[in-house]
Amino acid sequence: MRKPKIVVLGAGYGGLMTVTRLQKQLGSNDADIVLVNRNDYHYETTWLHEASAGTLSPDQVRYDIANVVDRSKVNFVKDTALKVDTEAKTVQLEKGNELSYDYLVIALGGAPETFGIQGLDKYAFSITNVDTARQIREHIEYQFATYKIDQKPERLTIVVGGAGFTGIEFLGELGNRIPELCKEYDIEKDMVKVVCVEAAPTALPGFDPELVAYATALLERKNVEFRIGTAIKEATPEGIVVAKGEDETEEIKASTVVWAAGVRGNPIIVESGIENMRGRVKVEPDLRAPGLSDVFVIGDCSLVINEEINRPYPPTAQIAMQQGEFVANNLVNLLNGKTPVNNFIFDNKGTVCSLGDDDAIGVVFGKKVTGTKASFMKKMIDNRALYMIGGVPLTMKKGKFNLLK
Ligand code: FAD
Ligand code: NAD
Repeated sequence: MRKPKIVVLGAGYGGLMTVTRLQKQLGSNDADIVLVNRNDYHYETTWLHEASAGTLSPDQVRYDIANVVDRSKVNFVKDTALKVDTEAKTVQLEKGNELSYDYLVIALGGAPETFGIQGLDKYAFSITNVDTARQIREHIEYQFATYKIDQKPERLTIVVGGAGFTGIEFLGELGNRIPELCKEYDIEKDMVKVVCVEAAPTALPGFDPELVAYATALLERKNVEFRIGTAIKEATPEGIVVAKGEDETEEIKASTVVWAAGVRGNPIIVESGIENMRGRVKVEPDLRAPGLSDVFVIGDCSLVINEEINRPYPPTAQIAMQQGEFVANNLVNLLNGKTPVNNFIFDNKGTVCSLGDDDAIGVVFGKKVTGTKASFMKKMIDNRALYMIGGVPLTMKKGKFNLLK
């Protein structure tokens, strides 16, 4: 009898949780499991702000997929998925091959949401993967080095668009990195300008106001200037244009603009004609795509409603990992003829936002934390993600052990 074929697209948090749980529970005769990923490595998306600022090396944020996947049970394909044909039940890959599936798990992560703002695609960086993180780090260093030659002040201006969690975590890293860069390139600290532009009336909209005040005060002490209630309207070769009052605009000259103002689903969702909202699939309670009984969508490509407030849960690694585990268990149930579980229930353990590697803010199990304690917790959360996927060996190799800094 032909074995059922499970294809998992993406080896991020959701995809690797699915595959590592499947390989634990299924024998090699139970199913063909195929994992497709653009690179032969996984990266910790949640650490990319560190690699972007240059406080962590790009190599430290990634590991070989081969280290966590059992090759006797999982066929790993290094390729880029282009499109899913949900009728023919195939996935088109960039190198020309077509993969057929009986069950498909889409776990391809998100893409920057630019809301159609002009120039962002061309003139702004985004913290999206290892390649863009390297680009940001190298670009900032190049600007510091070139300033010593042409003295153009805008070379030392960095604009961060958005004071959501990504923007704030990146600013925290910059706050620690810039003094190092100033020392390395013989530049006075006062010459460097870091401006964070946030459209909402507060940084970290929706988060605890006391913790937000803690974070912004700390970052201001590290010379970050906040422009709250100010929307970016355009990015240009010279910097950005922001809204000022009702009809006026203002230009902020900056050689580095990092857009950190939100994510949408992977473009493949739209390309494949799957019902979506900003590239994210509003999944059924069991995480299947509407009307597609053999397609599961998890992580940043999915949209799950928090019934308590009737709003989507923010896309996070925490929810992606829980969804991966849920889908793996349900696929095992399906293959074993058992009744699958109908409802995915998100177990929200809280949120911790780093402010550099020595400070943080958070709400964990309903309790507020700040400072060294919060920073300790953030590193433990980072280590836990490694442990959940690669056990002790991976945690020992890639984990964060400067816990009490
Ligand atoms: P990802 O983990 O992003 O993985 C997607 C994978 O798919 C990648 O390996 C990618 O290479 C691959 N891929 C993409 N397109 C293709 C293609 N076409 N073909 C083949 N492969 C492809 N969340 C938290 O819970 N806690 C945090 O502290 C936190 N910090 C964050 C910090 C930063 C700087 C950022 C940017 C995000 C952070 N998040 C955090 C959010 C979290 O990282 C995402 O929600 C999470 O990574 C989503 O997981 P995923 O499995 O959907 O996708
Ligand atoms: P976000 O959507 O959470 O925040 C984006 C911010 O950009 C918002 O504050 C928004 O008001 C602002 N913005 C939007 N348009 C703007 C404009 N034109 N000009 C200026 N500001 C504008 O996005 P994010 O910070 O990229 O986070 C993405 C996801 O990743 C979220 O779900 C977040 O919870 C998660 N994340 C979590 C952590 C953590 O738990 N520590 C860290 C990073 C990201």
